[in-house]
Amino acid sequence: MTTPYPHLFSPLDLGFTTLPNRVLMGSMHTGLEDRAADFPKLAAYFAERARGGVGLMVTGGVSPNLLGWLKPFSGKLSWKWEIHKHRIVTKAVREAGGRICLQLLHAGRYAAHPFAVAPSKVKSPISPITPRALSARAVERTIDAFANAARLAREAGYHGVEVMGSEGYLINEFLAPRTNRRKDGWGGDAEKRMRFAVEIVRRVREACGPDFILIYRLSMLELVEGGSSWDETVAQAKAVEAAGATILNTGIGWHEARVPTIATSVPRAAFADVTARMKPHVRLPIVATNRINMPEVAEAILASGGADMVSMARPLLADAEWCNKASAGRAQSINTCIACNQACLDHVFVGKKASCLVNPRACAETELNYLPTSKPRRIAVVGAGPAGLACATIAAQRGHRVSLFDAQAEIGGQFNLAKRIPGKEEFHETLRYYRHRLAEENVDVRLGRKVDAADLDGFDAIVIATGVVPRAVDFPGHEHLKVVGYLDVLTGRVVPGQRVAIIGAGGIGFDVAEFLVQADGSPTLDAPRWLAEWGVDLEQHARGGLIAPVVEPPAREIWLLQRSPGKPGAKLARTTGWIHRAALKAKKVKMIGGVEYLGVDDAGLRIHADGAESVLPVDQIVICAGQEPLRELAQPLRDAGREVHVIGGADVAAELDAKRAIDQGCRLAAKL
Ligand code: FAD
Ligand code: NAP
Ligand code: SF4
Repeated sequence: MTTPYPHLFSPLDLGFTTLPNRVLMGSMHTGLEDRAADFPKLAAYFAERARGGVGLMVTGGVSPNLLGWLKPFSGKLSWKWEIHKHRIVTKAVREAGGRICLQLLHAGRYAAHPFAVAPSKVKSPISPITPRALSARAVERTIDAFANAARLAREAGYHGVEVMGSEGYLINEFLAPRTNRRKDGWGGDAEKRMRFAVEIVRRVREACGPDFILIYRLSMLELVEGGSSWDETVAQAKAVEAAGATILNTGIGWHEARVPTIATSVPRAAFADVTARMKPHVRLPIVATNRINMPEVAEAILASGGADMVSMARPLLADAEWCNKASAGRAQSINTCIACNQACLDHVFVGKKASCLVNPRACAETELNYLPTSKPRRIAVVGAGPAGLACATIAAQRGHRVSLFDAQAEIGGQFNLAKRIPGKEEFHETLRYYRHRLAEENVDVRLGRKVDAADLDGFDAIVIATGVVPRAVDFPGHEHLKVVGYLDVLTGRVVPGQRVAIIGAGGIGFDVAEFLVQADGSPTLDAPRWLAEWGVDLEQHARGGLIAPVVEPPAREIWLLQRSPGKPGAKLARTTGWIHRAALKAKKVKMIGGVEYLGVDDAGLRIHADGAESVLPVDQIVICAGQEPLRELAQPLRDAGREVHVIGGADVAAELDAKRAIDQGCRLAAKL
């Protein structure tokens, strides 16, 4: 086979079995693992990815016993009768020609239930629950539970297991002095702290025989104080290799670490060097992870000899066909994971089923299908933002004749603004994907002219995806020349001076602040610079790999304001909001809540906050006060008796994001 990525698509011989390529679909909790009734959906999700050509997959974490539950009644495999539902998954994957391992994860002190256990009674900063310290007998029982669960996994038809030894869960807690204060045979020096992990690997191997894949997820960079040292991590790798592991996967950062590890602002492959540093110390195949989302990134890691496999989880949520497309040289048609977390991790953290912002079919394979239409129609889609793009491409894929209109000279709508925000460069990929899809599906794209009702004669159905307009504000002085809109700033029509107040601290206010604190043209996705800004030392001179951050001074002095009381940014997304807040704090942005806007004059913006009046001596005031729907086309068309559908921001502007826009576009197109 000829492929532009020869390393990525070369087989990997594990001795007793051969993987067809070097892609490991990393473990990701989807929310479908916890209820038996959801297993047919889970099976469809994995089978689709197996057909998509992935070499080896790992399930979301399943606990080996009750105490290890992530939350009450989450996935567990400790009794024989629990095998049955897993067989639905393994059968579907095997029939699709794939391979799948079950991840064994004991939550330890991250467990969200009152029976949480840990090596020592040390509470995690991100959990309200103080864990109970395991007795020496309970430690032995837990090791047996891992071996038992692995045996049951084999019986259930899995090709192997992954033992989760990283991210700050139980095994990792035994390894680090931060959490292991024991003085018995399971704590004290590094060798005793490591015993728990090594015994688990040894007994899992013993229980499952030599021809069963045993991946060990090794915490290679902890990013917390009091984590393991590099020498201890190397010793651990060698010990689990000797105990019978087949593959060594990389874990980066504990969940409680205050360094982003997978968000979109993390440069691609920023942590791959950690795996490369470990590689010479072991003979096992070793897997690089984190922010690897496109084939050229994966190929470069493998070609450099820094790893034997690459792990991708979210990228395969975004595109089940990732491997087939890459191996056939069709990388341009990959629907790239933009690392936003909005529909995957943010969902799982609040107990909702995972999906994907750019691919709403993820985890909905049994219910959202784009079947060929039996009645092809002429469809006009007005607006080529995310909602219109999703709708137009899927309607065309189903066999409709689709025309897509936009007033702008390029497709993308507000994504053309989002992609300019430092750290949101991945949004370019979504636009590249849609440009490619529009051409592939022969959509008639008409750009550069605002459409009115008269332009839409002759279509059987009209989709209004015209988005939003910025909300007008009415505080005293809003007509002053210093007052500009976020569109002026992000399109470059206005280049603000050195001191700027931002009115409105929603997602766009935060993004505008990020835009303004960065010097023009500074390479935000430069890994060495990014690692320095977050205080990460990949060489791990100190335990955990943390050093003092080196933050470049902000390009401007910024005030980020909101009227509501409380801290700005409190409503930003669960898994990424803290990153935006921390990044702006490091750039000395002054974030103020409970502000009353009293007026604007040549001296600046007069406000009332914290019981006092003051004047912020700013050159510009940028309005980021939310948006209103733009759907003026809809009513005249309806009045004329036409079939009209309104989606995305044009439908509802409040709490609009691209997740809803794309989801609505896809779901409408599936029914048209
Ligand atoms: P839009 O993207 O607004 O597209 C509407 C399109 O319709 C426009 O291209 C417009 O030119 C066209 N149009 C309007 N009227 C006509 C007409 N009469 N004729 C022809 N064309 C017309 N969302 C997220 O989920 N995550 C993020 O991280 C994120 N970051 C963002 C950062 C910034 C700076 C901004 C501004 C937005 C961000 N968003 C983000 C929001 C997201 O971009 C929007 O929710 C999404 O674009 C809405 O999609 P839409 O298709 O409904 O509308
Ligand atoms: P938003 O989140 O609704 O925030 C609007 C802000 O403006 C609020 O802080 C609000 O706070 C303030 N405001 C509202 N009316 C005002 C008025 N009349 N005068 C002065 N201030 C006013 O909207 P947005 O920031 O425009 O974002 C739009 C959507 O894009 C969001 O829903 C978001 O999901 C999405 N987005 C997401 C991301 C992301 O990273 N996920 C990034 C960007 C955008 P007060 O009322 O307290 O003043
Ligand atoms: Fe990637 Fe965002 Fe989709 Fe999650 S929701 S898989 S981060 S694109």
